[in-house]
Amino acid sequence: EQAFRRKTAVTSTLIRSIKKYSEELKARDPGYVYKIMDFCGTHEWTIVHFGLRSLLKKAGVDNVELVAGPGCPVCVTPSYYIEQAIKLALEGVVIYTYGDVYKLPALRPVKGARSLAEARALGGDVRIVHSFLHAILDARKHAKPSAFVGIGFETVAPGYSEAILKGLVPNHLKLMSLVKLTPPAMFYTLEVVREKPTDFPISGVIAPGHVSTIVGGKAWRPVAEQFEIPVVVAGFEPNDVLTAVAEILRQLAKGEHKVVIEYTRAVTWEGDLKAQSSIRTVFETVDSAWRGIGYIPKSGLALRDEFKKHDALEHFGIPDLTPDTWRYDLPANCKCAEVNLGKAKPTDCPLFMKACTPDRPIGPCMVSVEGTCAIWARFGGGG
Ligand code: SF4
Repeated sequence: EQAFRRKTAVTSTLIRSIKKYSEELKARDPGYVYKIMDFCGTHEWTIVHFGLRSLLKKAGVDNVELVAGPGCPVCVTPSYYIEQAIKLALEGVVIYTYGDVYKLPALRPVKGARSLAEARALGGDVRIVHSFLHAILDARKHAKPSAFVGIGFETVAPGYSEAILKGLVPNHLKLMSLVKLTPPAMFYTLEVVREKPTDFPISGVIAPGHVSTIVGGKAWRPVAEQFEIPVVVAGFEPNDVLTAVAEILRQLAKGEHKVVIEYTRAVTWEGDLKAQSSIRTVFETVDSAWRGIGYIPKSGLALRDEFKKHDALEHFGIPDLTPDTWRYDLPANCKCAEVNLGKAKPTDCPLFMKACTPDRPIGPCMVSVEGTCAIWARFGGGG
């Protein structure tokens, strides 16, 4: 109970601080709305689940808007790769996948299946695992051709690279490397919003805490410097997010734009150097397609030539996507791309909670626990 009281007291102090800076900014620039983008789906979950938007509104903070960003790897994985995984599953390959990829809808059905869940219902061997290591342990119990659908951001990459470097991966298990990199996506998102401002540009960024344990606070310095906006690497408690908002407004009020690590209990400036080195050894940075968005320069990880024997696409003879072969891959009327780029809210989508629900998802943002539409659907519209 004492801990709860302490946390509540901290929340009240933070709200007062946010209010103070918001008033300072309002006095300087009446009518301006300061948009703060939370990159990470888990931050959006905290904001919605704990009703932080309502809390700010109730405190009279009406010139600050918290905007969700592209921080859900499942939401941005091109449909093409899901279609290929479905095809492999229906051809007898064991497919290992994370739970939130299982129901991810592909744009085009493959032999009647639109998701890995449907492929399994049609007889495909699709197995849900928690990690690449879990897939490796399971795959060692059989000798069937297998593929791991390796979706994720920088946080999962060391698990893939270390397993490969340590020789843990059996020959019959291949990796579909679909790892996406977050700082390039943030750059792209800020450029798009800046180029075509719907109303106000993004004034500050709450950078992802988990990813930053690997890449470090330093990875966000180019964002702060190029766009001249504050960036705060934050943890996932409500008070972490409120601290980030207060710090961003403080910097805006003082005319500063630097990277601050709020999540010091897990993140350092340099990040995890051993993990960074492991990733660099196994993977190279490549231009990568983001679902509904297209190619973002240097935003993905592909296995280096010397590790290509682990590559699922190469092993199963699947041509990789290229900028020439990528096609817009969201269903009609789905606004997932705009939602991911902070240009629309889930409630702007005509299908939200009508045709598209967590039980019957149409677009990818309604599937994963980190998808903005799924979060808004579960906790009632942006809280
Ligand atoms: Fe796409 Fe469904 Fe979200 Fe609409 S509600 S943007 S269809 S995922």
